Amino acid sequence: MTDASSIPWTPILLTPGPLTTSERTRAAMMTDWGSWDGSFNALTADVCARLVAIANGTGSHVCVPLQGSGTFAVEAAIGTLVPRTGKVLVLVNGAYGKRLARICEALGRDHTVYETADDVPTTPEAVDGLLAADPAISHVGLIHCETSTGILNPLPAIADVVARHGRGLIVDAMSSFGALPIDAAAVPFEALIAASGKCLEGVPGMGFVIARAEALARAEGNSPSLALNLSDQHTYMQRTGQWRFTPPTHVVAALHEALLQHAEEGGLPARHAKYARNCEVLVRGMERLGLKSFLAPGIQAPIIVTFHAPRDPKYRFADFYAAVRARGFILYPGKLTQLETFRVGCIGHVESADMERAVEAVAAAFADLNITTL
Ligand SMILES: *Cc1c(COP(=O)(O)O)cnc(C)c1O
Repeated sequence: MTDASSIPWTPILLTPGPLTTSERTRAAMMTDWGSWDGSFNALTADVCARLVAIANGTGSHVCVPLQGSGTFAVEAAIGTLVPRTGKVLVLVNGAYGKRLARICEALGRDHTVYETADDVPTTPEAVDGLLAADPAISHVGLIHCETSTGILNPLPAIADVVARHGRGLIVDAMSSFGALPIDAAAVPFEALIAASGKCLEGVPGMGFVIARAEALARAEGNSPSLALNLSDQHTYMQRTGQWRFTPPTHVVAALHEALLQHAEEGGLPARHAKYARNCEVLVRGMERLGLKSFLAPGIQAPIIVTFHAPRDPKYRFADFYAAVRARGFILYPGKLTQLETFRVGCIGHVESADMERAVEAVAAAFADLNITTL
């Protein structure tokens, strides 16, 4: 481990959260808010309204914010929306899908896993067959962008199939919300889960669930948890304007400021375009160095890219990480068990010039370490 005091500058985080935030977003955390104060309640209400609007769910959907990291919100969504007698079909092609299955297990929710390889998106045809074969399945759990590789699963097509079978869809859109299009008016889902510290470019500490109002209303009494009960959180907030239990006030304030910037910069299409540019500059630059990305371009989301590590036997991720870090960039280890890889995030308050410099830092790091990449 490196001592925090050894960072004389703020490194650029090319990680999928926490990520690099704007100075304006960080400055919003300089105020101490009272959790009972009307001004803080108004801040929460505005954050929620903006989040529902980003999903185009105004009028039909509600936003339930929840303290904690994204996983807390995933666990809350499964526990609240899936009845105790329900059964979840979990679609897996990476670590977050596996985590969703473990959540079902921990909550005692019956579930079945359909797994494809890390570089194979789930197809709507497969889901169609699985739902036709098992009428006991009440819900389908899908990871929109599987952050363990960066693969994009075909959400709209899968949502159509799930709706046609009359089942409920729960989407982990943690690493896509705010950047990849999700239209609640056109894509049927019961709940969609995301968090403050990913593509919205807030700081970590708050998850949220965008739920179809009727689905949430039907879910009362399902949750086996006190703190992770979205029905109770929503009911209490509707009645009082306040959070149940201490809110992450500074995180909410930062998210509010981040959402203002999201809108000012052009909303979701502009965020998508920025990350797409970042991703393209990154992949092209790394290709010039001889480093190939793991996924085919057609299934790669512009969120995080997995690269094959150099074949040079001298390569060690820890040394590479340290050498890149010394140049001001924080990378992410790979999450594949069979292959030596590393990941570079495209999200956060960074732009293509930062990605160019990151590629230069990677090149210089390999030169330092005397590792050949070509
Ligand atoms: C980040 C992320 C989560 C939540 O992880 P936390 O460590 O709890 O923040 C869940 N699903 C996906 C796809 C993610 O990218």
